[in-house]
Amino acid sequence: MTARNTIDDPHTGKRVFVTGGAGYIGTHTLVQLLSERHSVCVFDNYSNSSPQSLERVRRLVNHDFDQVEGDIRDEAKLTRVLGEFNPDIVIHFAGLKSVGEANLFPVKYYEHNVQGTIALLKAMDAAKCKRIVFSSSATVYGAAKYLPYDENHPLAPENAYGRTKYHIEGMLGDWVKAGGDASAVLLRYFNPVGAHESGLIGEDPNDVPNNLMPFISQVAIGRRDVLGIFGNDYDTRDGTGERDYIHVVDLAAAHLAAVGYACAHTGCEAINVGTGTGVTVLEMVAAFEKASGRKVAYRVTGRREGDVATSVADATKALRLLGWTARLGIDEMCASTWKWQSKNPQGYVQRGKAA
Ligand code: NAD
Ligand code: UDP
Repeated sequence: MTARNTIDDPHTGKRVFVTGGAGYIGTHTLVQLLSERHSVCVFDNYSNSSPQSLERVRRLVNHDFDQVEGDIRDEAKLTRVLGEFNPDIVIHFAGLKSVGEANLFPVKYYEHNVQGTIALLKAMDAAKCKRIVFSSSATVYGAAKYLPYDENHPLAPENAYGRTKYHIEGMLGDWVKAGGDASAVLLRYFNPVGAHESGLIGEDPNDVPNNLMPFISQVAIGRRDVLGIFGNDYDTRDGTGERDYIHVVDLAAAHLAAVGYACAHTGCEAINVGTGTGVTVLEMVAAFEKASGRKVAYRVTGRREGDVATSVADATKALRLLGWTARLGIDEMCASTWKWQSKNPQGYVQRGKAA
């Protein structure tokens, strides 16, 4: 990916169409896009979010943006809205993301994630928009053949969710090849956690959280009694699973860097977004207790099916291509999560009342 597109100065304000912008990673990215004076249109069906998150973003940045309720599977609506907004680039967050649910309802996941992306690409073609930044995942790698994972690690996702990301990555590669001067950046996230330092926006899972950090914070706030630790007999420092947690504010910054990159280059690049450092479950519990001043009760249960011992990124390509590197560590991840959780014990909605 070397060709430079001289028409675009990557540093001037862009028109950015953001699918899934009301969600966890989307809202944090919006804050930075708007702060840097990009023009934004959010397209979201609020299936896993609420428009209140967008009101919080407006409060935070004191800057307005377009907002359309719609489903990415609705090609006609996407075509109309994209045609009107006329974006320079799309950031594509929208999709379903639960590994467990995907294994139970794989067709639903292919429909939202893969078919939704097909509709989006067709609408982008109609609007002559040739640049996209896509939310991929480290799950595309599957079991580690070596660690840390670099972008050349073989792709062998072990669950239906990961396979939807794998197929979308392949499709975007083909779309770029056919498009001549098109550009796609596939950001392979490791484990996003944390919240904006204001405590105004954060992760707001429906139902029982699947992921470690929201579960820990809900135990700390008293919404749940005890954290189940999924195994302490892994080959790691303390026997519990080790992951590369990335602060969502750093992750958002990686999207801005990717927008700049995609506006200046053609081709398709997959790029890991992680810190390169692993943290175990017990280390995360201890860090959260320190940040919150609360006790996090836990009980070791059996291993969760499909879990690996260690997942850590080689994040050097992000530095080389995007000039991006993670800045925030585990203390900031825990402190910001606790601020968000303690200011919003029930998330965005206080039992039917707008928060
Ligand atoms: P999220 O659920 O908070 O955000 C996704 C947003 O997309 C939500 O606002 C939801 O309402 C919307 N959406 C879902 N299906 C839609 C559809 N058919 N049409 C329109 N909007 C739709 O999730 P997130 O954590 O912000 O993740 C964003 C993206 O990053 C997802 O694609 C996810 O797969 C990917 N990702 C997330 C993680 C993670 O741990 N959070 C890790 C790797 C990759
Ligand atoms: N984990 C845990 N209890 C939970 C949720 C997660 O012990 O309630 C562990 C899990 O086994 C893994 C780590 O925490 O080692 C991160 O899990 P998460 O689901 O957040 O991310 P992923 O497994 O997708 O990397």
